[in-house]
Amino acid sequence: MGGVLWWSVRPVARETMRMEYHRPRSLDEALDLLKRSIPLAGGTSLTPGRRGLSSVVDLQDVGLDSLEVTRTRLTAGACVTIQSLVEHADVIPPALTEVCLLEAGWNLRNAATLGGSLMAADGRSPLLTVLLALGTRVLLQPGNEEVGLNDFLGRRGTDLTGRLITSVSIPRPSWVSYDQVARSPADRPAVCAAAAEMSLGGSPSRLGVALGGFGARPLLLSSADEDPGSEDAPERIGRLASEAYARAGDAWASPEYRSEIAGILVRRVILEAAAP
Ligand SMILES: Cc1cc2nc3c(=O)[nH]c(=O)nc-3n(C[C@H](O)[C@H](O)[C@H](O)COP(=O)(O)OP(=O)(O)OC[C@H]3O[C@@H](n4cnc5c(N)ncnc54)[C@H](O)[C@@H]3O)c2cc1C
Repeated sequence: MGGVLWWSVRPVARETMRMEYHRPRSLDEALDLLKRSIPLAGGTSLTPGRRGLSSVVDLQDVGLDSLEVTRTRLTAGACVTIQSLVEHADVIPPALTEVCLLEAGWNLRNAATLGGSLMAADGRSPLLTVLLALGTRVLLQPGNEEVGLNDFLGRRGTDLTGRLITSVSIPRPSWVSYDQVARSPADRPAVCAAAAEMSLGGSPSRLGVALGGFGARPLLLSSADEDPGSEDAPERIGRLASEAYARAGDAWASPEYRSEIAGILVRRVILEAAAP
């Protein structure tokens, strides 16, 4: 005769912290709350760690979701979603639409915002790589401080506590090119590169080039604010790319592979941007 087995099912004790949730209706109110809370935008990055949060300020009613397009730039509120950029494909460069689609699937794109992505995305982000090449600028409050994306990325995790990205200003290029190598077409890149050619009002065109696919953030190899571009740009900046990834090894690619591919992709996107 078989015996009877009894399982004892006891609730597992779990430490839960009470989280304050604030939903201000004005920017001033949000900034005040940020003295003791962190911003909550789409929540796609924050939600998995929600049990560790003590206070959040939901930004959805603050009015940071406008999108303004002029001849020279696109100014997006920090809460504009990645999907909403896709839906403005008629006014944004094709390569920017392409990287928004690569950044995440439809569900995630509908929630994830531009501001949240600038704060949370890593070096494998196609979107961050293109925004860096374009010479994107970020407006921070309080203080009305405008910073280049390259400097902004250098400050993440250090002195941005209590600061809010309110808008993102993206120059409209004469051409921008993007390419990537990944394990599958929908996967995040092991190496990616973007080049933007900016020609403003008759002055010599400028070249912005960024490299991504590894680490905490993409790298700016040439700044659209400074580099006038030249015939040797593909070779010169391609070499910089190979050197930058000479030790960039992880589970997705060896450093030798990344370094080789980085040089090839960077040369390719520069040639495309210069002669579309
Ligand atoms: C299934 C899944 C897969 C993912 N894969 C990747 C991936 O492969 N690579 C990657 O980089 N990310 C990935 N993410 C992370 C995330 O989707 C993105 O980084 C996203 O764009 C974050 O945007 P959000 O609006 O949801 O930000 P939130 O989650 O709301 O916030 C992210 C961070 O930014 C801060 N923040 C938000 N808005 C502002 C603002 N206006 N000003 C100042 N700070 C702000 C928040 O306080 C928080 O620290 C993934 C997420 C999920 C759920």
